[in-house]
Amino acid sequence: DRLGSGGMSTVYLAEHVLMHRRVAIKVLPKNRVNDSSYLARFHREAQAAAALDHRNIVRAYDVDNDGDIHFLVMEYIEGKDLQAMVKDKGPLEYQLAAEYARQAAVGLAHAHQAGLIHRDVKPANLLVDQSNVVKVLDLGLARFTGEDRASLTVTYDENVLGTADYLAPEQALDSHGVDGRADIYSLGCSLYYLLTGHPPFPEGTLPQRLMAHQKQQPPSIYQDRPDAPPDLVQICLRMMAKKPRARYQSATEAAVST
Ligand code: ADP
Ligand code: MG
Repeated sequence: DRLGSGGMSTVYLAEHVLMHRRVAIKVLPKNRVNDSSYLARFHREAQAAAALDHRNIVRAYDVDNDGDIHFLVMEYIEGKDLQAMVKDKGPLEYQLAAEYARQAAVGLAHAHQAGLIHRDVKPANLLVDQSNVVKVLDLGLARFTGEDRASLTVTYDENVLGTADYLAPEQALDSHGVDGRADIYSLGCSLYYLLTGHPPFPEGTLPQRLMAHQKQQPPSIYQDRPDAPPDLVQICLRMMAKKPRARYQSATEAAVST
């Protein structure tokens, strides 16, 4: 079964023939294997996932290759990602949106404490299992703090780096220098999406949207949800503050407040 695809790769559901354990296998596209930056990113994802052990982060079991087919074996999560969930059912109930954001913040706090910044937090990378447990996935852009800077692309390329709709303003300018507060911004944009059904700045070209994240205030959440709880709106806006120092300063603080 094909579970999904984020453009970079394809994820399959597989079952171990002898052990009957179901796993998710993320396969790097063959035509990317000769591109060393993709392979490096893929291996970074495996290392990042292996360094973490938390109920709110998808667990990695193995990374291997069969000839030029490179793959990552992960815990299979039976459920839905938040992008798909909102697309199907529309914006979420307030309680549920807050609870999902809180759990994602708890998972991110664990990653940050291990010295890892996710750098691609968005609804499609937050899976919810059958017991309503949120699992952060896709650590493909994650980097350990202090890691070699030269290994990353300088220019922002949406095809390579994914959507710009959840990207922190400072990350668009310098993707190397960001800290955990960039993930908090992206989580805020994700919460905005859960509440309104659209990202904060959906219109325009890539440079226009990146500029909007730098300069513009997002349309009020009350436009889409007039009866939204003011506390929750405040939490969302605080996560999405343009200046990192105006946000929650840690994912733990964000989790406790949400
Ligand atoms: P990409 O780097 O291509 O974005 P992701 O790791 O985000 O890859 O996976 C793409 C999609 O596949 C996810 O949005 C999700 O719907 C599905 N998926 C990924 N990993 C799993 C998993 N462990 N269990 C179940 N579904 C998964
Ligand atoms: Mg993804």
